[in-house]
Amino acid sequence: MNTGPSPNGWHKAETFMLCPRRRAWDWYGEQEHGKPWHSDATARGTLLHVGLAHYYRRMQATQQGEDPEQWYSPEVAVSLMPKVETNAFDAITMQRHVADVHIALQGYYADYAMEKLRIVAVETVVSFDNIPGMGGPGQPTAKTARIDLIYETGNKLYFLDHKSAGRITREHKWQYSRSGQMLMLRWLGAGLGKRFGGVILNLVQVGAGGKKNQRPSLDSVPGMMVSLPLSLTFWEAMRLQFEASGLPPEMWPTVPSEHSCRGRYASRCPHADKCDVAVPPITQVEWPKFDLDRTVADYSFRTT
Ligand code: SF4
Repeated sequence: MNTGPSPNGWHKAETFMLCPRRRAWDWYGEQEHGKPWHSDATARGTLLHVGLAHYYRRMQATQQGEDPEQWYSPEVAVSLMPKVETNAFDAITMQRHVADVHIALQGYYADYAMEKLRIVAVETVVSFDNIPGMGGPGQPTAKTARIDLIYETGNKLYFLDHKSAGRITREHKWQYSRSGQMLMLRWLGAGLGKRFGGVILNLVQVGAGGKKNQRPSLDSVPGMMVSLPLSLTFWEAMRLQFEASGLPPEMWPTVPSEHSCRGRYASRCPHADKCDVAVPPITQVEWPKFDLDRTVADYSFRTT
């Protein structure tokens, strides 16, 4: 089962907001390679998603009276990932984490074996046509997302989002409550009205001994929710213009800060080695021109 990024997912916008040049390196990776290069964190996340997708798809098949064996077991699916990866770098990066993901899955089954869910959809791609200012004529392209799991319990629908963590901490709930990815899923759910139960953060520890799982309820953040269209339309308009510009990565703006190149609590930016030495061919840069009036006008129009 494919659990890769959706065509225009949150991650592209988020990377550009963190640092335009960071998005530039990913963008050129996508052109050359079809996707950004794996880091250890993304490799663990990919393997975990594949494992849980097969776990829940087999559960759904059983619930629907189909043969679950038409799907690989989660462990086999995870083990096959490095073998079917055509890029040697990504294959080796994933292979390093297969054993840890197997351990994490065993802990996951033990914790959630007794839960009763009706599986509605596994790894389904949705488009956000209810976020104002996106997807219309002259507007940034509508965002998309891959919802890891939609299930029903107690006559309510829930969206479950899997997140692998090297070590689960109290900060994860705080951080993800404010993440645009979760905010977008909440926007989508709001369109379902009373039938929507909520977005569930499914934290799974991979590595560090594994076998720790949590599903903390997300904080109520109405200010962040209401601000999402304003932020997304602004940043997406800029990102799309840079991607269309043809400028090489070394001519996209950097965010040269200890909080972006290497955050105090986050790992080093995976592109730091390139940024250290990639010198722009010219320094008089013709930046893409931004149509900020349109973005601001759109937002004003929507709020009146
Ligand atoms: S090393 Fe720093 S400037 Fe370069 S892409 Fe990463 S965050 Fe941006």
